[in-house]
Amino acid sequence: MASLEKAVVKGLAEDKGLYMPEHIKALPQSFFDNIQDMSFQEIAYNVADAFFGEDVDSESLREIVNDTLSFDCPVVHVNGNIYSLELFHGPTLAFKDVGARFMARLLRYFLAKEQKADGKGGLVNVLVATSGDTGSAVANGFLGVDGIHVYVLYPKGKVSPIQECQFTTLGKNITAVEIDGVFDDCQALVKSAFMDKDLNAHMKLTSANSINVARFLPQAFYYFYAYAQLKKQGKADNLVVCTPSGNFGNICAGLFAKKMGLPIKRFIAANNANSVFYEFLQDGKYNPRPSVQTLANAMDVGDPSNFARVYDLYGKSWEAICKDISGTTYSDEMIADTIRSVYKETGYVCDPHGACGYRALSECLQNGEVGVFLETAHPAKFKQTVDQILSSDIEIPAKLQAFMKGTKQNVSMTKEFADFKQYLMSK
Ligand SMILES: *Cc1c(COP(=O)(O)O)cnc(C)c1O
Repeated sequence: MASLEKAVVKGLAEDKGLYMPEHIKALPQSFFDNIQDMSFQEIAYNVADAFFGEDVDSESLREIVNDTLSFDCPVVHVNGNIYSLELFHGPTLAFKDVGARFMARLLRYFLAKEQKADGKGGLVNVLVATSGDTGSAVANGFLGVDGIHVYVLYPKGKVSPIQECQFTTLGKNITAVEIDGVFDDCQALVKSAFMDKDLNAHMKLTSANSINVARFLPQAFYYFYAYAQLKKQGKADNLVVCTPSGNFGNICAGLFAKKMGLPIKRFIAANNANSVFYEFLQDGKYNPRPSVQTLANAMDVGDPSNFARVYDLYGKSWEAICKDISGTTYSDEMIADTIRSVYKETGYVCDPHGACGYRALSECLQNGEVGVFLETAHPAKFKQTVDQILSSDIEIPAKLQAFMKGTKQNVSMTKEFADFKQYLMSK
């Protein structure tokens, strides 16, 4: 058993396993009775308190939540019984902003506490592997936070130019490391670094991928908030939530929300052509393999790191998982078709990830159900792709334009662990 503090500061357990909360606290009925009248911050505080309240004093936790959530995520009616929860209203226009920011603040809180206790400071180094969105969200969430240095590992030539500039132009405590390989290579390097004795003796390391509990659990806020928004409209009774999934951190947070009592009827995990989880749902066999590149590149994951958490949460029972979660898988062609048809029929512009979510709901919703898909990124983050599909010229929000004006700085490296290790040892 480990303290929350250890789980956040270390990221990955010593046995290479993922930390799981020992017990999941249900929220009281009164919370659900009033949720539709509460602000995003208020909802999130209640949820955060259930997760972290034993380890963080309430005043600090409130500060962390309020600092994380200075924006709202509207639920937009798209078509029939299908709604889009737009998670892209944070600083980098991606849903990972919330987890990243929350984790940065919580880590800072614990470090300050440790410093007070033993008088020692010591820099903490955050390692994060990204296929695009994680890197930008984590880099921006941690930017300028005292006592923490962030290394963002990303695959050369495989993230969009707009995404790349969101973590390569920041400077300060953020270093972008370009790896000659694919996302899985980046993830493997990060995992190896955590397991390496010499490195751990040399520097304090932690992870900001969704394997870190402080990164993925705050994503549960969104599910409560979606429920509240739909309840306000009298639409929350048979709610199905569809989460476009890659590493399965986001949907895992939703599954935790359900365990805490949130009345979500069932979940759909929408996949692109990387269909390892979809296949698992069909026959109970988990067959991880290298990822393939798709239009929805933040979901290009061949061995989802939170699969173990989902499996654990359901007592390693395939039947129990199938009861709560169904899956879909879509080719690039299907994603493009969906972006086109949704736009034509409704005027709504989906990004390639959200398009998987929309399509899954339009195929899988049953009579009497209301579906909400998580629109995980602003379409302008995938402007090239979306413009090509829609023959459009979608506007780039000012927040994104600002990043594109900066100067790109990075360190280039092979995918060999020896190189990465040598580099970190020199720090
Ligand atoms: C990260 C990401 C996903 C996948 O989320 P997971 O938690 O890895 O399953 C989906 N869409 C976008 C835009 C993302 O950035």
